[in-house]
Amino acid sequence: MNRDFVYSGSPAHIVFGEGKSALAGAWVETIGCRKALVLSTPQRQADAEALAERLGPVAAGVFAGAVMHTPVGVTERAMETVARMGADCVVSLGGGSTTGLGKAIAYRTDLPQIVIPTTYAGSEVTPILGETEGGRKTTVRHPRILPEVVIYDPALTLGLPVGISVNSGLNAMAHAVEGLYAQDRNPISTLMAIEGLSALRTSLPKIVKAPRDIDVRADALYGAWLCGAVLGTVGMALHHKICHTLGGTFGTPHAETHAIMLPHTAGYNADAVPELLAPVVEIFGGSIGGLWDFAREIGAPLTLKDLGLSEADLDRAAEVATENPHWNPRPVDRRSIRALLQDAWEGRRPA
Ligand code: NAD
Repeated sequence: MNRDFVYSGSPAHIVFGEGKSALAGAWVETIGCRKALVLSTPQRQADAEALAERLGPVAAGVFAGAVMHTPVGVTERAMETVARMGADCVVSLGGGSTTGLGKAIAYRTDLPQIVIPTTYAGSEVTPILGETEGGRKTTVRHPRILPEVVIYDPALTLGLPVGISVNSGLNAMAHAVEGLYAQDRNPISTLMAIEGLSALRTSLPKIVKAPRDIDVRADALYGAWLCGAVLGTVGMALHHKICHTLGGTFGTPHAETHAIMLPHTAGYNADAVPELLAPVVEIFGGSIGGLWDFAREIGAPLTLKDLGLSEADLDRAAEVATENPHWNPRPVDRRSIRALLQDAWEGRRPA
């Protein structure tokens, strides 16, 4: 077995535990800041205002305009608020959309970020920022983008609707599955991927039954952290490329797209890297198709058709997803990607 690898640890501080979001104000001071701008989506504005209230003297104010895929126009408005309020750091309270806005501000200003994630997307532990402008989504990776402090407080996820929890959990799992066969994987990323998948395998079905169980929520958030850390450490392949294409070109919702595509992309790569995907087979009941069974069991969407895509869109998606060559364990060509998309569109179970 080849044991060559490079491992670089993340410099971020990770704070995990029920009620730990109460430490946000102390962390603002620990990182040497005095005026934090709290960010959220419009839907979570009341929570953001309550957090700003709790931050007291170290709060500069609230910007509740975050939306999915980080449109540059929203970032520019947020930057005006940063300047007007004299903010010296941001506190992002919410899912990947809010974290994305904080990262976009940090990328432009180098302001430090404290993130309090409330979904399982995993963006908070990656140095990656996806932004949209003029209908195009571009991705940039830079050390300035990686948040300095992440506070995981499972109590804040108790009200995350079951549907969003399921899709977001599968989104996290996709980071781990692709991390297992990443070209630049290392022993730590593989350990994190397996542990993250196991934690979500156990917790997501329990969340469906008892969404307000704090221990189960803690398990899922723990799994999401590990899966996100894999995404932040190693390169992704076909799965992320296709989801990026579908989201960027057809505006399909982020987490749902990942949830639907995961069993299909894993199935596509299964024969190319059987030994690397063996942990997935083991965790999900003996076959890659077990991933699809799991998604169905927890009520995830199973067909691209349900996201409003037409069959004709699949031709274009296959074209866009294969126009720039990218690494994948199994070679990628337009015909096989078109077939894979057809299976996902119809919701066919992979073998
Ligand atoms: P999201 O942040 O848009 O959240 C989904 C919805 O859930 C929103 O309406 C939000 O207000 C609501 N919500 C969040 N937390 C809640 C809670 N605790 N209770 C009730 N409602 C709550 O979606 P997401 O799936 O978390 O993130 C998707 C975005 O993140 C996309 O833009 C994607 O590109 C990005 N992302 C980036 C990375 C990266 O590393 N750069 C990784 C994953 C996702």
